[in-house]
Amino acid sequence: MPHHDPFLLRELLGEEAALCRRALTGESGVALPPLIDHHVHLHLIDERRLGAHGIAGVLDLGGDPTVLAQRPSEGMPRVAYAGAFLTAPGGYPAGRSWAPAATVREITDASAHPGVAGGAATAVDEQATFGASVIKVALNAQAGPVPDDATLTAIVAAAREHGLPVVVHAEGEGMTRRAVDAGAAALAHTPFTEVLDRELIVRAVAAGQRWISTLDIHRDDASSREIAGANLSAFLRAGGLALYGTDLGNGELPIGVNAGELEALHLAGLRGAELLGALTDPWPRAERSRGVSTFVPGAPPADINAVPAWLAGATVVPTEELIHDEHG
Ligand SMILES: [Zn+2]
Repeated sequence: MPHHDPFLLRELLGEEAALCRRALTGESGVALPPLIDHHVHLHLIDERRLGAHGIAGVLDLGGDPTVLAQRPSEGMPRVAYAGAFLTAPGGYPAGRSWAPAATVREITDASAHPGVAGGAATAVDEQATFGASVIKVALNAQAGPVPDDATLTAIVAAAREHGLPVVVHAEGEGMTRRAVDAGAAALAHTPFTEVLDRELIVRAVAAGQRWISTLDIHRDDASSREIAGANLSAFLRAGGLALYGTDLGNGELPIGVNAGELEALHLAGLRGAELLGALTDPWPRAERSRGVSTFVPGAPPADINAVPAWLAGATVVPTEELIHDEHG
């Protein structure tokens, strides 16, 4: 058996990486914590295929809250969700074929009071009642009207009452600034429509804002890809916290761990153990799921540049199926 330096293994793959083999087959490989895609739409994909391709947990950022509420809280994949998209009347994604009416709430009143028809707080309260872990707001100025500042403020305040972070889809000029000013806890996408001022990025980092990556959705659009890559690099250099997310369900993306997303994150500066950190962060949950692990068959990656492609071979296995090597 070839020698693998445990210090190198940790630098490449994080503190919890361990050499192991599967009890049933004897196959050797590397054990890692469960991997999470922080931006999916379950109603648009075949979720049964996620585990075979390495994804043990997801954050659903726009779906039918009544359907999502019926899921077991510890299933496979383990799901955290926003429930419906909150948007302006006629705003994105209302009316899209992939966003049925049950997945969208068009807010007609900035009211912070509960029980107001079309009210901002009412929409937040509804998602909370259905077990949402985050609130999703669409600020897509390139695709229609967006919630005004009063509405946005009321949404964030109502979400705070429930202890729920707000995730904003910011698209179009000035939308990221509005999301930062309003106190959004996370962005659903790395901003891709404008190169952001350093001052704004520093403010987002200081506020602890998380950016869900979704770089690979721009693989056929060189301009968006370049802007998003530059923004994420600047965000990371300023100390920002990125989360791995693909917007799975949006167009033709591979089900499971997406090698293109990993490669783009690596190029933006998130490498090795830090890349693993973006994949294994349980946010918005506090705890990792128990009982499942990631298994990548074969030898560990030879160096840090080999990590993205190597990780694409990940699969989800019951933790009890893995026997750790003595010096892993
Ligand atoms: Zn999405």
